[in-house]
Parts: sequence; C-alpha cells; structure tokens
Amino acid sequence: MSVLTKAYFHDEAAAFAKLEEIVWPHGPSCPHCGGMERVYDLSKTRLGLKKCGHCRKQFTVRVGTVFESSHVPLHKWFQAVFLLASSKKGISAHQLHRTLEVTYKTAWFMAHRIREAMRSGELAPMGGNGKFVEVDETFIGRDKTKKPKGQKKGRGYAHKFKVLTLVEREGKARSMVVDDLKTSTIVPILRENIDRETRVMTDEAGQYAHLSRDFEHGFVSHGKGEYGRGEVHTNTIEGYFSIFKRGMKGTYQHCAEKHLHRYLAEFDFRYNNRVALGIEDQERATVALRGIVGRRLMYRDS
Ligand SMILES: [Zn+2]
Repeated sequence: MSVLTKAYFHDEAAAFAKLEEIVWPHGPSCPHCGGMERVYDLSKTRLGLKKCGHCRKQFTVRVGTVFESSHVPLHKWFQAVFLLASSKKGISAHQLHRTLEVTYKTAWFMAHRIREAMRSGELAPMGGNGKFVEVDETFIGRDKTKKPKGQKKGRGYAHKFKVLTLVEREGKARSMVVDDLKTSTIVPILRENIDRETRVMTDEAGQYAHLSRDFEHGFVSHGKGEYGRGEVHTNTIEGYFSIFKRGMKGTYQHCAEKHLHRYLAEFDFRYNNRVALGIEDQERATVALRGIVGRRLMYRDS
C-alpha cells in the first residue's frame, strides 16, 4: 500500500465519492438553487448524477467548477493535485503530461488551474504584537521589456522580474511580483500587508532604510558579512527563497511574466500548508481541491 494506491487516484466512481465528501461534508447541495432537502441520487444513470427535488434540475459535484468544462477524468485531476501539492519544488507540465498520460496542453492547463486554486487571496495583515515578519526580494527570469543596460552599477537585476516576499516566522508567506524596488513602491505594500505592531526584519537595502517610521525595524548588514544578531535575522525568508529558486530553476525553466504570480501562489501555498504547521501531503491536496471547487459559481442568477 502507498498513498498512490488510494482508489480515487484510479477509479472514477471513487474519485466522485471523494470529491463529494470534500465539497459536501453535510450532504449534497444543488448548485442551481442551493436546495439540500430533497436531492435524489441518479448515479445509476450517470456517474455522480443527482437531481434536485426543489428546482428539478440535475447536477453533479463537477457543476460550476473547472472540472465541469474539463474532459479530464476526475481521478486524473486528483493525481495532478496531489503531485503539485506534495512536490516541494513543484512539477513541470512536461512531467505531468508524461505521468498522467494527457497531452502537454492539457497538463499545462491543469497545472495552471490548480495554481489558481492555490491562491489564498488572504488580505489580513501579517504579524502582530510580539511577532516577526521578514521581508526580502529576489530576482527571477528575464523581463524582455527591460534591457540590461541602464541598470544600477554593479547590480545586474534591472532586466529580471522582481519578487517581494513577506514571511511571518512560524507562520505564512505572501509573495508578489513588483515593478521595481523603490521605497515608494515597497513601503506602501508593507504598510498594507503587515500589522503595525510587528517587528519587521530586512537586510540593509535602501528601500528599507526608513522602515522604523512605520514598524519596529531590525536589519542585517549582509554587505558587511553579517548574518544576524539574536532575533535580528532573515534566515526564514532566505530558506523560503532557496526552495523557490531551486524550484523555478529546476522545474519551471521558462516562465512568462503573466504567469509568475501563479507560480508564487503555488510556492506560498505549499509553504503555508507545510508539514511544520501540521499539514501532511494528503491534507494539503484536499485544501487545494477545496480551492478549485471554491471557485465555483453557486446559486445561478437566472
Ligand atoms: Zn435545485
């Protein structure tokens, strides 16, 4: 036995049952009218088919979700979600294509829909009294709209995509693509995303120079070979970036800017649902599945 021998990875009826269990923990509800009292099982007619006794319409658990418009069987979706949710550095569309035996195009589509579902949309401020949030930026890929020339001397980053990440110690990460690293760009983002009582940890970069106006601010002078003093360090975020960079280099070699935010969502998702927070692989996959279904449109207007 292994995780991969679970029936819902192979058997379509089991996959339907599993998805229903995840989506409808309190029993099926009609996606057309929300009715739950009289739902009839028509699965002998077609897999997963139900009929609402209230509005008389038929539905399955796939209705209104990305699974409805997809021709890929549910059990393959389960495999894809599990692979993406459990692989620390991600999984390429090529690998998914070979493993799932679907076309490359389909694999690519599936992976991006799953990443979309992994986006948390979390807006609540991070940190708080007695908490630490580490902030840092990293550079990835090549922004073809920007030429390497005109960069600041000694720093060949002007033509790369810029990613800003905030990580709460023993907590979650929030990453975003930013246009530049100017103080006027970065500081408002930090004000919006971090509770004012938080102790914010950065390196000595110029954009953080006046952060003590907004937060209790500690910084490490990497330029002077300093790696931290007691509670003042950025080790957490450096660990985060090392996984992110290895994943982006090894697994996602070609990443267009318009998709970068989705890859960030994927790495944030795995980090925010990590084993150290008590979340194992299967549970993480379930969270992602809920995210996919959570994007469904309930209670149609018409
Ligand atoms: Zn109904």
